[in-house]
Amino acid sequence: MPTPTHEVIIIGSGPAGLTAAIYSARADLKPLIIEGEPSSTSDQPGGQLMLTTDVENFPGFPEGVMGPDLMANMRSQALRFGAEIITEKVSKVNFSNHPFELWTNNSTDEPTYTANSVIVSTGARSIMLGLEAENRLIGHGLSTCATCDGFFFRDQEIAVVGGGDSALEEAIFLSRFASKVTIIHRRDELRASKIMQQRALNNSKISFLWNSTVEEIIGEEKVEGVTLNNTLTGEKSSLNISGLFIAIGHRPNTDLFVDQLTMDESGYLLTGADRSTTNIEGVFACGDVQDQRYRQAITAAGSGCMAALDAERWLENFHDK
Ligand code: NAP
Repeated sequence: MPTPTHEVIIIGSGPAGLTAAIYSARADLKPLIIEGEPSSTSDQPGGQLMLTTDVENFPGFPEGVMGPDLMANMRSQALRFGAEIITEKVSKVNFSNHPFELWTNNSTDEPTYTANSVIVSTGARSIMLGLEAENRLIGHGLSTCATCDGFFFRDQEIAVVGGGDSALEEAIFLSRFASKVTIIHRRDELRASKIMQQRALNNSKISFLWNSTVEEIIGEEKVEGVTLNNTLTGEKSSLNISGLFIAIGHRPNTDLFVDQLTMDESGYLLTGADRSTTNIEGVFACGDVQDQRYRQAITAAGSGCMAALDAERWLENFHDK
């Protein structure tokens, strides 16, 4: 049997979802947060900050804060105001009926939950290389965010994997700190825009390793180097580095919403200009699931606040009708 209809259900528990939870709990909407379930070290409730160590750019923490501690604080703040958090994964949604219907893992035919409004904050994930060492070394020299972690690599030799705009942008940013940045690309031609290519090629701290793939990341407790494979000759080589940035793209977590919510060609949810509204009235989206541009914890948190305020106003009108 479904539980009574909730005013707000929030799907996802990263900075966007938990900020939406804090705001909607303080508005007395008693939000239910379906936070997800851990399925591997790189897929757990709390989002991408659970995979980082020091976070030094989240305002309010002059000494920095550990990613998991920041998420634990946001979680307790939401709970303090009456939010309910359940550790389940949403497996199906139906936004064509109202109240909206949601199913979780152990679902039967009946929806597990129903809600008058839903805030989608399922985030995005960095595409990884699929190497065994990635789970172990993420946050220990292995990173997917130059803006977040570049500062830790001052005067060090590091590498970036990828040949698109993200990889070049990351490399250019990292060259402010690192003594040398090597871009490792699997082809001999970059996918990035011409202007980014020019900037990277003209940067004296950046060099390129073409036709190369990373076969292995070396280091038990922190990154010490990589083993490379030349895709043309099959020749193996190694590169000593203390930092490795993977910049081969991101994937929004939107499989659940295909055919229900409008998305762009990369699968990011489309929201109204300066709004968190989606194509379905009463369904809102915030955080990285709808943001391909900024992808920061603080922008995700800000958009979570927007979604909670939008949902609150929408619910007021809905109940007034
Ligand atoms: P992208 O354009 O899809 O580029 C991904 C890069 O990673 C490609 O060079 C690809 O190689 C490489 N790659 C993919 N899988 C790989 C694997 N398993 N092993 C090794 N290399 C792999 O992704 P993006 O750079 O994140 O950009 C996404 C979108 O955002 C693009 O439209 C981009 O223009 C935009 N963006 C714009 C800016 C800007 O304008 N400042 C900044 C960042 C992103 P191949 O080239 O061989 O396929």
